[in-house]
Amino acid sequence: MKILVLGGAGYIGSHTVYELIDKGEDVVIIDNLETGHIEAVHPKAKFYQGDIRNREFVDSVLDNEKNIDAVIHFAANSLVGESMVNPLKYYDNNLCGTKVLLESLVAHGIDKIVFSSTAATYGEPDKTPIMEGDRTEPTNTYGETKLAMEKMFKWTGVAHGLRYVSLRYFNACGAHPSGKIGEAHNPETHLIPLILQVPNGKREAISIFGDDYPTKDGTCIRDYIHVLDLAQAHILAVKYLMEGNESNVFNLGNGVGHSVREVINAAEKATGQSIKVQMAERRAGDPAILIASSQKAKDVLGWKPEHDDIEEIIASAWNWHKNHPNGFNS
Ligand code: UDP
Repeated sequence: MKILVLGGAGYIGSHTVYELIDKGEDVVIIDNLETGHIEAVHPKAKFYQGDIRNREFVDSVLDNEKNIDAVIHFAANSLVGESMVNPLKYYDNNLCGTKVLLESLVAHGIDKIVFSSTAATYGEPDKTPIMEGDRTEPTNTYGETKLAMEKMFKWTGVAHGLRYVSLRYFNACGAHPSGKIGEAHNPETHLIPLILQVPNGKREAISIFGDDYPTKDGTCIRDYIHVLDLAQAHILAVKYLMEGNESNVFNLGNGVGHSVREVINAAEKATGQSIKVQMAERRAGDPAILIASSQKAKDVLGWKPEHDDIEEIIASAWNWHKNHPNGFNS
């Protein structure tokens, strides 16, 4: 197969490209390198640097790359906090970018797309675990734009026959076992890489954002899922569309929740070092508990997440971070 990966130089995108190439697929990447890294681009992938908001650029890639079987779309801004202070940036990149992309895909007769969506489409859940049919009421601009992107695929599908799979991830973490690629955001806002900055000597202590939530130890509970398991789900979703199946939405998580304190304890074990903590205010917009039901992805896509042990997941992240304390600039 020949797969176009938008955002293939980013965290989840680069891991998916590595897995696709491992399976012998042909990969073409588009990335504007605004948040992605050239060092994360697999050497066997064909790389085009450019922005999906630029119709001429997207058209030129699709004119050049004949016979693309499917598209995997990761190209978006994804920081919740930033999306609240700069919402229009998110509307511009996430929504306007996807609109231009879809116009070009339709014009080129490409009709299968797998989309990187998020648990943030649900907002504050009514119950746990979250099912795909549950109410979607995002509490931040990031989640709102991702939900709107899902709807853009839906209505483009109705009009133009495009089929899509939307994958709503919970908390992506971990790194590739080769040690060549891993998580490298700037600024970093995610819990596990921030915790690992402490044993890496880059941070004095990890702040716990609130310990008065209605959970067992008062700290927020999340469902942490290994980036390689996410990568496998994208590949299965492409296969699902290639087999002619209808558009669909799937949650991707382990179905198990870990509190912030539990994650810190697991990181102490995985790194063999003690990690200093300090208490901080709650972070705006953080739901107390987010846990996925991924039964549908297991039943329909045949997805089998392989990394369900939080300590092992953090050990794989640590394997990357300890050798790359400054990300790809290390
Ligand atoms: N968190 C924290 N300290 C930090 C960063 C995150 O206590 O320095 C908490 C955050 O409030 C949330 C959980 O860790 O409950 C996971 O946050 P992250 O930003 O990694 O992912 P999110 O769940 O927001 O997608």
